[in-house]
Amino acid sequence: MRAATERFCDEVLRARAPALAVLWLSEPDYTGHHTPLGSPAHRRAIASADANVRRVAETVAALDPSGERILFVVGSDHGMETVDETIDLDGLLLEAGLKRAPASSDVVVAPNGTAALLYFAEPAGALVGQVARFLETQDWIGRTFVGDALAEVGLPTRSPAQIALTLRPDERANPHGVSGYSHIVRDLARTERLHRLRPAWRARQQRAAPVPVRLRRRLRPRGAARAVPRSSTSRRRCCGISVLPPPDGRPPLPR
Ligand SMILES: [Zn+2]
Repeated sequence: MRAATERFCDEVLRARAPALAVLWLSEPDYTGHHTPLGSPAHRRAIASADANVRRVAETVAALDPSGERILFVVGSDHGMETVDETIDLDGLLLEAGLKRAPASSDVVVAPNGTAALLYFAEPAGALVGQVARFLETQDWIGRTFVGDALAEVGLPTRSPAQIALTLRPDERANPHGVSGYSHIVRDLARTERLHRLRPAWRARQQRAAPVPVRLRRRLRPRGAARAVPRSSTSRRRCCGISVLPPPDGRPPLPR
């Protein structure tokens, strides 16, 4: 990143002086997704990004001492939380008899990290209310927005997406002192994409021992006697992008 930043400053800003120039830094996002938040590696990535932004800021200041000619804008990607559980919402709906089959379109889960949208083949049908009532029994739910309430979060109310939900966060600190844990909704489509894109990775995964599935008492619908499975796999997420733990220290997808 430092070499890219220096080339950006020297070859782009100083030498070419274009009307618009963009420098995109992959850190600390990349490291934040693949190492514990607050770990030495993560803190180094933050410090490195900070130093690179400073290099650009100093270059801009040198090129435009008055601050009148160059508009310098710094933007960031997103914050992070430590993700400790992955909720198999499709599986829960199937278990509850609220979804016909894993690939059925009566209700379709669109995971988005610590949130999800639920699409319905019949947006005005009874299934919407049934699923909403089921969600209310789940202890991992943060908030749900159903039907007209979708407008509260800026979503259209007359579309097939009839339920939006967030997963309940908590403020525990991770081993490096960074607070904030949350569950995420399992993203089946992403898992399948990974398998398609990385056949070698898939082969390694198949040879490896399967991830144990714990039966979590905590996931029981309130008042129900039977527990349902929830993956114990630990993942990190990026505002909607959950990342499978790399089997060999490398990320499963180029980013
Ligand atoms: Zn990210």
